[in-house]
Amino acid sequence: MQSSYVKTVKFGGSSLADATQFKKVADIVLSDKTRKYVVPSAPGKRFDGDTKVTDMLYSCHTLASSGKGINEIFDKIKERYNAIIADLGLDLSLDGEFDAIYENITSGADDSYAASRGEYLNGMILAAYLGFDFIDAAKCIFFTENKQLDSEKTNSVLAKELEKHEYAVIPGFYGSLPNGKVVTFSRGGSDITGSVVARAVQADIYENWTDVSGFLMADPRIVKNPKTIDVITYHELRELAYMGATVLHEDAIFPVRLSGIPINIRNTNRPDDAGTMIVAKADKDDTKNLITGIAGRRGFSAISLEKDMMNSEIGFGRRLLSVLENHSIPFEHLPSGIDTMSAIVSTHELEGCRSEIVHEICLACNPDTIYVEDGLALIAVVGRGMVQSYGTAARVFNAVASAGINIRMIDQGSSEFNIILSVEEHDFESALKAIYNEFVR
Ligand code: ASP
Repeated sequence: MQSSYVKTVKFGGSSLADATQFKKVADIVLSDKTRKYVVPSAPGKRFDGDTKVTDMLYSCHTLASSGKGINEIFDKIKERYNAIIADLGLDLSLDGEFDAIYENITSGADDSYAASRGEYLNGMILAAYLGFDFIDAAKCIFFTENKQLDSEKTNSVLAKELEKHEYAVIPGFYGSLPNGKVVTFSRGGSDITGSVVARAVQADIYENWTDVSGFLMADPRIVKNPKTIDVITYHELRELAYMGATVLHEDAIFPVRLSGIPINIRNTNRPDDAGTMIVAKADKDDTKNLITGIAGRRGFSAISLEKDMMNSEIGFGRRLLSVLENHSIPFEHLPSGIDTMSAIVSTHELEGCRSEIVHEICLACNPDTIYVEDGLALIAVVGRGMVQSYGTAARVFNAVASAGINIRMIDQGSSEFNIILSVEEHDFESALKAIYNEFVR
């Protein structure tokens, strides 16, 4: 291994929920000298029914902003950190930090500031425990005025700063606005910080340590003991993530993707498991399975239109979509026939504006019939192994048909690595299982 080899490692909240978990993290980090830059989340749940520190901090902000006291919950937060410090046997006091945070929250600091302190404090403890430098993310992760990550400024400032530290802890989840105020990513955003740090140090790998041994080929609540995905491409992951497979924050892919840095999802509680590798490109032949994963979601509606001679009417599709656009409704798919067209949208997007939308579509498109059907589920079958291989679609449809399920709509992306089908919600789980069993067992 080259001496310049470097890993950025991020640990999620469950990996840092208490001192026992901290010790596992330290074992992982200190057992490999190339694990140089560490990004922690705030302490997560220790057991079912426990509360994440981030949620307690949001509650503090909510209470303070409605003029109520925060002492009770703030004391619980202090207790969590103090227990970690004591159980690790650290000679560290965060009392000064606690006082400053208390003061700021009770005198009007916003919710982002409150929530960010979870990672900030945890980062301080982890840095002290590992003997690494602590770097406040507010000083080197920057957002634009409209609260978007300022990637280029962040990358250049962070790269320069990290050059000065051989080993460092950079808390996840937050950065600062141009006016210096602290701001956070959306929930789960420490994954993005990890990715940003990996890019800044041009890491050879970004290890994302969590409480599962990688991505599963299907939702374990639906398929019993699904297999773990060994290797997945960024593209495949996007397709699966969009359909609800969540282990990694969606936006965490982009910074590392720019530099072609692979992400390795690992399990803090089972450090010997290889986990899942997320890569820019994988050989089609490296996969034993034709498909990489199956994901899906309920809660879709189809707005279906019929009109004689629709196929020759220029602008029909545009007029339909412009109505959705005017209501800021994204469409998921647009299956069409000669004289029919449907727009598949999330049902919740239609809340409160359903009849208005139907009315506007009638005015814009003048269809012979229009109807909205709820209760649809979408299933994405994703796999680079499917590209240019014969018969995959047939196997998907056969599997679903053999389970006695009617497929309502089909869509295959032009890149050929995903087939999306729509079934009625009550058939969702059986269809997903049928497809999994066809390809995996
Ligand atoms: N602590 C934050 C959350 O609970 C961010 C993170 O864990 O990534 O959303």
